[in-house]
Amino acid sequence: MTDLRPPILSLSAAELETWLAEHDAPAYRRKQVWTWLARGATTFDAMRDVPRSLREAMEREFRATSLRPVAVSEADSGLTTKTLFELDGGHSVEAVVMRYTERSTLCISSQAGCPIGCPFCATGKFPFGRNLKAHEIVEQAVDAARVLAAEGRRLSHVVFMGMGEPMANYDSVVDSVRRLADPELLGISPRRIVVSTSGLIPRITQLSEENIPVTLAISLHAARDELRDVLVPINRKYPVRDLVDTAQAYAGKTGRRVSYEWVMLAGVNDTERDARELGLLLKGKHAHVNLIPFNPVDDTPYRAPERAAIRAFRTLIDAQGLNVTVRDTRGREADAACGQLHERVMRNDQAAVS
Ligand code: SF4
Repeated sequence: MTDLRPPILSLSAAELETWLAEHDAPAYRRKQVWTWLARGATTFDAMRDVPRSLREAMEREFRATSLRPVAVSEADSGLTTKTLFELDGGHSVEAVVMRYTERSTLCISSQAGCPIGCPFCATGKFPFGRNLKAHEIVEQAVDAARVLAAEGRRLSHVVFMGMGEPMANYDSVVDSVRRLADPELLGISPRRIVVSTSGLIPRITQLSEENIPVTLAISLHAARDELRDVLVPINRKYPVRDLVDTAQAYAGKTGRRVSYEWVMLAGVNDTERDARELGLLLKGKHAHVNLIPFNPVDDTPYRAPERAAIRAFRTLIDAQGLNVTVRDTRGREADAACGQLHERVMRNDQAAVS
């Protein structure tokens, strides 16, 4: 039966304080509730310093979360875990937790599906579902914080690189970033939050005015329009040079270096010509290039380059004076390219899902 109670995080701080006042409770109880959620409480009953009558009232009126985990996969000896959550209304999204020595990073989804339709992407292959609400984005982070807290870890970084185009769900994404950064909830510094985009230029400009200095990541993948029109179809509307100009204006305004993401596709965008074009496009820019070896997706014609080709490409970028790294390929066994766990579950391939 559908649970009609609203999730507690769908209320803003002011709305929850109003509800508390209506129940003769002081406003500081709101902070206590948020602290418990950030610490991993999954029930109101677990919030021990909140009076029992108030816990019971919350239980009657709210849910602690709206996300229902329906599948989990693991890779890298448990250092990477991917969870598929069902949302209210039936769509599902993925969130990936990656554990490193110094940090723990969550890759978060902002839409169920994605309207951009990049041909190499698992998410782009199935029909667009809907935008996530801000609380559904925040709840992914609260769940990750809970999982990590049980391991003695703290969620330190969030990247909006899961399912969806964050800038196509702008208001909810910005609202969720503010709440992720709120010291009374998760307290993740905006500098440790990366918002990626395939290139919605007006929204990048808008983001630069928000006074939340998140790191901007541009999913570039090609430096010439002719190729980028194919790999990232939004390029037909917002061409690559205009995009880079806008991203650099963001860097100028926020002081944050822009990260340019480049999924490496063998024989498609890993040639010497591509490296030279990329070098020219970003020459003298406050920029970082992140090369991402392609994580193979079924039913696409693309494949990952050999290691030697990745090294050669990196050397060419480096030689042109750009800051460049190769991202580690975390989570190959965890279906970690966005949309892959969803696709596998949709195919009922339960053998891959624990
Ligand atoms: S790569 Fe990103 S923008 Fe492109 S279809 Fe996939 S989720 Fe959407």
